Amino acid sequence: QEDNFKKVISHAKEYGYVFQSSEIYDGLSAVYDYGQNGTELKKNIREYWWKAMVQLNENIVGLDSAIFMHPTVWKASGHVDAFNDPLIDNKDSKKRYRADVLIEDYVGKLDSKIEKEVKKATKRFGDKFNKEQFLATNPRVVEYKEQGDAILKRMGQSLAKEDLADVKALIDELDIACPMSGSKNWTDVKQFNLMFGTKLGANAESAMDLFLRPETAQGIFVNFLNVQKSGRMKIPFGIAQTGKAFRNEIVARQFIFRMREFEQMEMQFFIQPGTQKEWYDIWKEKRMQWHLSLGLGADNYRFHDHEKLAHYADAAADIEFRFPFGFKELEGIHSRTDFDLASHEKFSSKKLQYFDHETNKNYVPYVLETSIGLDRMFLAVFANSLQEEELENGTTRTVLKLPAVLAPTKAAILPLVKKDGLPDVAHTIIEDLKWDFNVSYDEKDAVGRRYRRQDANGTPFCITVDHQTLEDQTVTIRHRDSMEQERVAIADLKSIIHEAVDM
Ligand code: ATP
Repeated sequence: QEDNFKKVISHAKEYGYVFQSSEIYDGLSAVYDYGQNGTELKKNIREYWWKAMVQLNENIVGLDSAIFMHPTVWKASGHVDAFNDPLIDNKDSKKRYRADVLIEDYVGKLDSKIEKEVKKATKRFGDKFNKEQFLATNPRVVEYKEQGDAILKRMGQSLAKEDLADVKALIDELDIACPMSGSKNWTDVKQFNLMFGTKLGANAESAMDLFLRPETAQGIFVNFLNVQKSGRMKIPFGIAQTGKAFRNEIVARQFIFRMREFEQMEMQFFIQPGTQKEWYDIWKEKRMQWHLSLGLGADNYRFHDHEKLAHYADAAADIEFRFPFGFKELEGIHSRTDFDLASHEKFSSKKLQYFDHETNKNYVPYVLETSIGLDRMFLAVFANSLQEEELENGTTRTVLKLPAVLAPTKAAILPLVKKDGLPDVAHTIIEDLKWDFNVSYDEKDAVGRRYRRQDANGTPFCITVDHQTLEDQTVTIRHRDSMEQERVAIADLKSIIHEAVDM
């Protein structure tokens, strides 16, 4: 598993997807830059989301609000008081951990034990294996599961009550049962605010303390009435936005999974109070369908319904994805009630209500939120697509099987040789295709090597121009995943590629 993840990170660097920030200065921890291919992949994911959320929904519109916001926003949202992570230091290793993450990692170990049992049983029983029944009845598995649930429940309760001493006690107990860091020398648990502070204004005395936004959602809440009125929006309606968010994360070891500067894609759906359960179910389903539409494999996703709810939510679930280091949160779906709008009403003394013309009544709408990290989605897609394949001739190839719709380059145009006018024909094809797709040109090395390079780059099609092309205006098109090649007319290339890469 760990090796796999290392391969993902080094491949991302080698092929221009993700670089460490400020690398020549030894990097900045948990901050990353996207290279020439990463930028395209990220943009394509963002567009895929935007199209599904905004373009295809008559009643959802976009917004692009500023990163800087009035400081009172973060009081109203609860981020000043409650956006805290419980921290614990290990005195021996001098390492700092997020207490809840440490505990969850422990539960993750129990989960891997369950997975091992499942694998063993699958081998033993073959076709007759019934996974659901096994999970529900195998005594060892049931015990691991119950143990994990009990640990998470206790952590949730202690954190909800802010009983940090009990969180510490839990860590001690788990550390004795199974050492988590090779030592048992922990400090007390402390709270730590995750927002980055900065100042607005040059004059030291009058400068205003600001925060870099830790989520994009608040920009939507404070603009709720602006959009509703100017767009004559009728409830139910949604506002979607993508943009940067900043968190001073403590545990930041998992590449672009947990970053200090990252991008979110959020949508708040404004609804009538009392209808939240219905909309919660609808959006859970819709978001899962969006993920499944990318074809990364249904068994890589699962829902995790929260028992421990944040202060603003009356129901919450995560869509979890099987990352190289196990199942982890990819997206959150939260039923936020009127917590945010009502709180902004209180702090701003402005009415944030909707007038319903049918019932002639004013009310503060309830909100259903879907929130996904763009970088985390990038990691899910990238890690899942990176595969090593054994070929029939005994060699292996590295192939990045990105969904065609998301691939940075849709086709590479390759002249078979660098002479006889083949490069000119290749360039003519590029001139025609580049208005519709990102395409690239490659004439270096033998064509087999070039195919492999494009495989590793994630390019779905290679189009090869050869001597026959000069006679009959046809080329070969090679498919990345099947490696099959067919002869097609240059005139048909556009429609073939469109067919494969359009949403
Ligand atoms: P986690 O428990 O992993 O810290 P969270 O519950 O704090 O996540 P939310 O506040 O619900 O996350 O944010 C919504 C989404 O934003 C997450 O599902 C995740 O995809 C993304 N996200 C949150 N924090 C980060 C981060 N530090 N780096 C990258 N993506 C993030």
